Amino acid sequence: MTDLAGFTTFHLGGPAGNLRIAGTRDELVEFCREHPLSLSARADADVLFIGGGSNLLISDTGFDADVCVVATTGVTMTETSDVETRVTAEAGEDWDEFVAFTLGCGLSGLEALSGIPGSVGATPIQNVGAYGTEVAELITSVEVFDRLAGQVRHLSAVELEFGYRTSALKRAQQRTGAAQYLVLSVTFDLQRSSESLPVRYAQLASALDVEIGDTVPASLVRTSVIFLRRSKGMVLDVDDHDTWSAGSFFTNPILDDPAKLPDEAPRYPVTDPLSGATLEGRTKTSAAWLIEHAGFTKGFRIGEGRASLSTKHTLALTNRGQAATEDVLELARTVVDGVKERFGIALEPEPTFIACSL
Ligand SMILES: Cc1cc2nc3c(=O)[nH]c(=O)nc-3n(C[C@H](O)[C@H](O)[C@H](O)COP(=O)(O)OP(=O)(O)OC[C@H]3O[C@@H](n4cnc5c(N)ncnc54)[C@H](O)[C@@H]3O)c2cc1C
Repeated sequence: MTDLAGFTTFHLGGPAGNLRIAGTRDELVEFCREHPLSLSARADADVLFIGGGSNLLISDTGFDADVCVVATTGVTMTETSDVETRVTAEAGEDWDEFVAFTLGCGLSGLEALSGIPGSVGATPIQNVGAYGTEVAELITSVEVFDRLAGQVRHLSAVELEFGYRTSALKRAQQRTGAAQYLVLSVTFDLQRSSESLPVRYAQLASALDVEIGDTVPASLVRTSVIFLRRSKGMVLDVDDHDTWSAGSFFTNPILDDPAKLPDEAPRYPVTDPLSGATLEGRTKTSAAWLIEHAGFTKGFRIGEGRASLSTKHTLALTNRGQAATEDVLELARTVVDGVKERFGIALEPEPTFIACSL
């Protein structure tokens, strides 16, 4: 039996029932056809798809069913207008290599999403975002195998119903407890330009010494973002335990009633990922701020300290090398309870939990 720890950035997870690495689209489709989804399926009896394993927390007892590692590669491009190129990447492509490739081809749009681990195919699932950009703004469609319908389908950006760290794909999984959609490929519309999208994130603007809304060479945004991410332990480095994580472990809470927030807590507008319009009556705050102000500092650890908050960023829970999944869960529960007690706000975890829960 193969341990799944080797397939996750937490370096955690017990054995898989069966593990298959699908390097071609035919192999992916064949796996799905062999594993149709019935609505009565229970999550712990279904299948698991793994891309880069950078947003997964898998139980120490493993996953006693079939696991498929998505390892397909390939990128195609078509010029769709004077200014835009449509780029389709197979699901198993490495995300950051894909970002670098598009920039190298003179296409801009993805530069602020540099340095994020994982595969292209996982990016629409939780609407990956960083430094003021989300993939929702650039994805035109996603090709999936729908295990419930037993066929390949193309879902438009509107059908994907993107939200903050969520999409129709993720919601379907949360509803049924099983992965209804396997992403086969993702299509993006990118500008043929060496100039970045307008810089929207204050810390990035400051690092670039520009104003919010300015544009700069896209390659410069990539370099700055990677520099900033590295300083927070948000670029994978096997020698740095601060990066043995799933990145941010909690999403930033969105509140209908911001009155419970202390005056000094950060408040951000909540915007619709597709239109950019502000959603009235909703306020986003910072999970990192809540964690810090509930008394959990960088490097906070419990018990023997096998798992701790990152020494560079309070939002990342990390494996210090000898942790078990249960250590990470115990640490997460301590942080959730502390924030709840101090602010009355329930933090929501961002990674997908497999055969375990908070
Ligand atoms: C150091 C670090 C920094 C990070 N920074 C960010 C960040 O800035 N912003 C951000 O949004 N995220 C961030 N993340 C989280 C993570 O990198 C992203 O969510 C990424 O998109 C996950 O990709 P993956 O291929 O590793 O997915 P996996 O971890 O392999 O899988 C995640 C989920 O997607 C499913 N899945 C994977 N591939 C497919 C597929 N082809 N079809 C259907 N389902 C699939 C899995 O079953 C699972 O439910 C970070 C993680 C780390 C470790």
